[in-house]
Amino acid sequence: MDLKRIVLDLMPDVLVRTFAAPYCAGKGISSGVTKADEIHTKGGLFTTLDLLGEEVFKREDVEATVQVYFRMIEAVKDRPFVSISLKPTQLGINESEAYCQDNLRRIVAAAATHGIHITLDMEDRHFTDVTLRMFKAIRNEFDNFGIVLQSRLFRTAEDIKALHLKPCKVRICIGIYKEPADVALQDKRDMKEKLFEYVQLLLDHGHYPEIATHDEPLIRRCIDHLDKHGVAKDAYEFQMLMGVPRTEVQQEIVKRGQVMRLYVPFAEDWKYAVHYMKRRLGANPAMAPMVIKNLFGR
Ligand SMILES: Cc1cc2nc3c(=O)[nH]c(=O)nc-3n(C[C@H](O)[C@H](O)[C@H](O)COP(=O)(O)OP(=O)(O)OC[C@H]3O[C@@H](n4cnc5c(N)ncnc54)[C@H](O)[C@@H]3O)c2cc1C
Repeated sequence: MDLKRIVLDLMPDVLVRTFAAPYCAGKGISSGVTKADEIHTKGGLFTTLDLLGEEVFKREDVEATVQVYFRMIEAVKDRPFVSISLKPTQLGINESEAYCQDNLRRIVAAAATHGIHITLDMEDRHFTDVTLRMFKAIRNEFDNFGIVLQSRLFRTAEDIKALHLKPCKVRICIGIYKEPADVALQDKRDMKEKLFEYVQLLLDHGHYPEIATHDEPLIRRCIDHLDKHGVAKDAYEFQMLMGVPRTEVQQEIVKRGQVMRLYVPFAEDWKYAVHYMKRRLGANPAMAPMVIKNLFGR
């Protein structure tokens, strides 16, 4: 076990909870919905709710997770400014693709009856193929289903070209998982250059890019480029994580009449929030200084 992992495992949960607090709405669906309402009322921002908890292995736990998503759908059905994000590792991918796909399909079908959009988050490279396969199969049936692609992966341009004939909402981000040099870019500047490129590629293929970054110069570069090329403001949106202080640029985007959406995670139990934070810090230790900077800079 490497040193980083040992340090994370030894880190007291209370400290991890302190780190997590600005980035997590709290405990239970109501905390997520309350936060979504607050964010919308205060700043006109949209949200995507995410239930924290990955690596769910037991069938009964997977089913419990599916039931939480059903309750979330009920809770947000009258809020057109809220969408839902979810992950394959919460929904049975560790058991089988067929089982996970069936669970995903149940959730997307339930959400479709209320016009709620569902985004399938992208996890590390081991899940890319299976996630795209499940996405495409379900997207054939339902329009309210979108996916995430990571600009650091070499494969992403091909994945965009092979995505789907129907227009899809695609969150494009650099990717949170550190990936090896044989499959992914290693320099953040290159990943961001690709992100910029993929926004246009997605538009060229008829898709709706959800530009997920906190990098203000990159956001402004995208806006300038898209304005210059006459791209309609409702042909794409911007997304950020709740808790990362970017009020000014977020308000500029809202004033342009565009969707600015925040990712709002909540936990059914704090232990999941702690686990999520530790896993994220483990996958990408570069996050720790950002979190600290944001905590003390607010
Ligand atoms: C809405 C949304 C959904 C996402 N979904 C996925 C997904 O499904 N799969 C995936 O692999 N990745 C996902 N990500 C993460 C994404 O891939 C990046 O890792 C993350 O956004 C940081 O990249 P950046 O472009 O903001 O640039 P960076 O250079 O990493 O960040 C710019 C600045 O933003 C701040 N910042 C960025 N991230 C954080 C953070 N986590 N905590 C605190 N401060 C931060 C820091 O001040 C930093 O200096 C998502 C990101 C967003 C915003």
